[in-house]
Amino acid sequence: MAGEAFVKAAGDINGPCMVCLTPTDTGVGIKGATHGLARGLLMLGVNPKLVLSIIEHRFGRGARIPVDTHHGIRVCVPCAAASGCEATLMSGSSMPEFLYDFSSEG
Ligand SMILES: [Zn+2]
Repeated sequence: MAGEAFVKAAGDINGPCMVCLTPTDTGVGIKGATHGLARGLLMLGVNPKLVLSIIEHRFGRGARIPVDTHHGIRVCVPCAAASGCEATLMSGSSMPEFLYDFSSEG
C-alpha cells in the first residue's frame, strides 16, 4: 500500500475513492487552478504528502491549470462526510453536481 496506488487512483476519473480507495460512484466537484485544487484535496482528507503527486500525475509536472477548471474528484460518501463535504453521483466522466469553489486560491 504505497502512495503510488493513491496517486494512480486519483489520476483516473473512474477510479476508486481518492481518500480510502474504496470503489465508489460518487465524487466532489472542485473549481480552481493548482493551489485551489490542492486546497480542495486537503479539504477532502487526501494525504498532504500525496497532493502534489496527484496533481502532477493528472496534469503533468509544472502544468498551468486555468483557474476556472472544474475537477471531478472521486470520493466516497463516508470520506466526503468525514471532511464535512457533500459527495454526489458521478457517472462516467460527468461532473459531480456539488461544486466547491477554490478559484480564488489560484
Ligand atoms: Zn473513501
